[in-house]
Amino acid sequence: MVNTDKKALFKKIPAVDRLLDTPRIIEASAEYPRSLVLRAIHQVLDEIRKDLAEGGESKESSLLKIETISEKVVERIVLLAQSSLRPVINATGIIVHTNLGRSILAEKVLKRFGPIAGGYSNLEYDIEQGERGSRYTHVEDILKELTSAEGVMVVNNNAGAVLLSIETLARDREVIVSRGQLVEIGGSFRIPDVMRKSGAVMIEVGTTNKTHLQDYEEVIGPDTALLLSVHKSNFHIVGFTQDIDASDLVKLGNKYGIPVMEDLGSGCLINFSEYGIPKEPTVQDVLRQGVDLVTFSGDKLLGGPQAGIILGRKDLIESIKKNPLTRALRIDKLTLLALEETLKIYRDEKAAIREIPTLRMICQPYSSLKTKGQRLAKMIGKLPNTHFSLDQVDGISRAGGGAFPLLELPTRMMSLTPKKLPAHRMEEWLRFHTPPIIVRVEKDQVLLDLRTIQGKEMKIVAQAIRDLASL
Ligand SMILES: *Cc1c(COP(=O)(O)O)cnc(C)c1O
Repeated sequence: MVNTDKKALFKKIPAVDRLLDTPRIIEASAEYPRSLVLRAIHQVLDEIRKDLAEGGESKESSLLKIETISEKVVERIVLLAQSSLRPVINATGIIVHTNLGRSILAEKVLKRFGPIAGGYSNLEYDIEQGERGSRYTHVEDILKELTSAEGVMVVNNNAGAVLLSIETLARDREVIVSRGQLVEIGGSFRIPDVMRKSGAVMIEVGTTNKTHLQDYEEVIGPDTALLLSVHKSNFHIVGFTQDIDASDLVKLGNKYGIPVMEDLGSGCLINFSEYGIPKEPTVQDVLRQGVDLVTFSGDKLLGGPQAGIILGRKDLIESIKKNPLTRALRIDKLTLLALEETLKIYRDEKAAIREIPTLRMICQPYSSLKTKGQRLAKMIGKLPNTHFSLDQVDGISRAGGGAFPLLELPTRMMSLTPKKLPAHRMEEWLRFHTPPIIVRVEKDQVLLDLRTIQGKEMKIVAQAIRDLASL
């Protein structure tokens, strides 16, 4: 009985051709490409079939009416016609948010995109000599100028930089690394896996919490090619701990003639301690200590595009450049452009803090965030007696991207405390907003951190909260 009912329901699902003949879909077909219309129809019909099979609400006969379905198809067409990659508003308070695109680029950088993206350029052409040039020259000098590095190489991302460096220096040989640094970053970058892929043999020394210089020295042998130090990035070990200073590792490396490499991960060029933030060794500090190779990301604390930057000893960089893997990890021209322009801003540290959004957001003081909160409240204005109460509260923002894992940046947030709709429904409403507003939900409260909301987004956020209030 039940089965025949089901069969009858399945029979009621309209055929694709019939849907194509409905007035709403004929109208939509005039505006949208046929492939898109068909994709929307198939998606909606598949969902109905699946729902029916699971005994869901599609069995209501009104939901199987052809008008209802064609309406659904039109909604789907509009949704599918949108670009997949879209801007969102980051109200999470996590500055380098990997899921939301890590760093946002400075205005100055964006202005340069048009002519380079839409025209030919001297990407690999030496204008003075009138012959083939190298794409890497565009960032080499500025990186040397800012960091005093002898040699420079840039690739697609930092994972690529680490892989390329280890492959070049230690393929089929041994790399010594502390057990306390065998990190996994973002769920897909694990030092032991990268090591395996690079063909190097990893020699782990020390324990999770303590590693001594002697631990390294004991395993150094004829096959040792590299001493590697990895920034712990997204975690921290507290209590009874001991890690090796870069300068000690350098002494050891020098004694045995073995290069020392440090994967800094975030790699910042600015000493944040002048801005009230705990000191992290800068790229310059690490190079000054005599580390032979340093690798770091372009889109973490540097505040530029996705890229992997390798700095260090000239001879090592030269052999890295000769590795055929560089072709597979090659940096794209738009990335190079964004990297060069971002780096140029660093010539004036004050300008960098002001103009590079990642740095600006990290250094923005609590007092100015409080003012920003008051400004947003004013823009929202008086809400009618609505289904949530709106307040300004204190909270914590994070640098993100594995930088400063323990750093808590005091911030100001808008909080929406629900009276009717639960917080997760409000979160969902904001996420489906155009543009999507990504928030935090904590203890059944919706929280919007003012630190990561950009000035030009304030109006949109204010209007969205007003619209949510009038639901
Ligand atoms: C983030 C990070 C990486 C990976 O960098 P990507 O730019 O994401 O490729 C590698 N090592 C460390 C220590 C990191 O923090």
